[in-house]
Amino acid sequence: MNNYPLKKNQDIEIEITGITTEGSGVGHYDGIAVFVPNTATGDVINCHIIKTKKNYAIGKINHILRAAESRIIPDCDVYSRCGGCVFRHINYTAECEMKKQRVVDAFARLGHIEISPEEIIKSGRENRYRNKAQYPVRLENGKLSIGFFAQNSHRVIDCGDCMLQPKEFGKIVSAFRKWIEKNNISVYNEETHKGLLRHIYIRKAFETNQIMVCAVINGHNLPKKDDLIVSLLKCTDNIASITVNENTNDNNVILGKKCYTIWGSDFIEDILCGVKVRISPLSFYQINRDQAEKLYYKAAEYAELTENDTLLDLYCGAGTIGLSMAKKVKNLIGVEIIPEAIEDAKINAEINGINNAEFICGDAPEAAKILAERGIRPDVIIVDPPRKGCAADLLDTIDNMNPKRLVYISCDPATLARDCAILKEKGYEVQKVTPVDMFPKTSHVETVVKLSKR
Ligand code: SAH
Repeated sequence: MNNYPLKKNQDIEIEITGITTEGSGVGHYDGIAVFVPNTATGDVINCHIIKTKKNYAIGKINHILRAAESRIIPDCDVYSRCGGCVFRHINYTAECEMKKQRVVDAFARLGHIEISPEEIIKSGRENRYRNKAQYPVRLENGKLSIGFFAQNSHRVIDCGDCMLQPKEFGKIVSAFRKWIEKNNISVYNEETHKGLLRHIYIRKAFETNQIMVCAVINGHNLPKKDDLIVSLLKCTDNIASITVNENTNDNNVILGKKCYTIWGSDFIEDILCGVKVRISPLSFYQINRDQAEKLYYKAAEYAELTENDTLLDLYCGAGTIGLSMAKKVKNLIGVEIIPEAIEDAKINAEINGINNAEFICGDAPEAAKILAERGIRPDVIIVDPPRKGCAADLLDTIDNMNPKRLVYISCDPATLARDCAILKEKGYEVQKVTPVDMFPKTSHVETVVKLSKR
């Protein structure tokens, strides 16, 4: 480390030349990459080095010497402390450009594929687009704190009204706060594993406006529940369901397996691409409903379905993608590993009068192999895997099934590019790519790709 040009606590001047996939700005000082959160490409800053590692350093802004053109004043009081958003200091056009470029770069670097994507589909709402929030409830230095975890930490940043969530969520959190204080309700402590209230969990169906409130507790009984119900119902007329989730586990998983309803319905209902979707506390549902709809419509455009087609929807969750296209095809088969999600998918098919759909609970690579052995040859396959992408043997099976079109939906450009490179080896061509901004102000970007064999 003798020639290392930087020391901890040193102040340096640096130009920010890029943004990492996590949303941090990065510049170079004497060949060493310096990561500085809350900066924008084009910023020239004076920065304080807080950490040095072998190949890189981490700094924080002392002051901005020249602001990037894209820079704006963050509109949230807790922005610099909360771990939720990373792009509140950059305008939305620049944010979307950056996300689109990230997809192009991932394809070039990791897939050696040159792409010219279609325009990124921007989110209609830049704020208040999330339909789900889980607020940890803790005591921080003796003070009741309800909000979000600071980045890489378990310290709760107190924040009643977060701008990513609907306004009503803030009111519901306030009602809980008053109820906790008035009734001396104990709150959870991660170290001692004692205290009752762990999380306040809220979901909203944007199309029907129905709201579900769920108290996640470390125990079996919620005391003073009538008082809580009365206070919650005063927040908004939209509450349709109030439930309790029991989570007595000594780990970081937010929800336990057992839920019961204390007021109203067991579920709320939303409408997505014209399909009714039943949402219960434990079921998976897209966080940004309006963007999910645009994503699904783009996927449908790429799928070019016809009435004699068999459509295979791999990693189908509660079945929403396939169900939104079921009326266009002869058969739909959905595959998903979580049994509860498959139950939801079956219910969603039933309440929509869709009877050409079959849902299979299993591991996607294995289930696809079994389907191939059964002689199923889907005309179109849609895959929407988690961040780690598709397993190599799944890509083999997909190729063996020889679909006319493959639509790949991904939440991670890196694994998407890797998988498209493998598919390219097998003779597939990346024909169209559209990035979709599902999560404004965060670093995430969704992508939908159309592939078919040459
Ligand atoms: N297509 C759905 C869900 C996508 S999220 C939608 O649009 O709503 C990815 C899904 O893949 C999750 O539901 C997850 O439970 C499921 N999953 C994860 N690993 C899996 C595997 N090995 N086999 C099948 N499904 C899996």
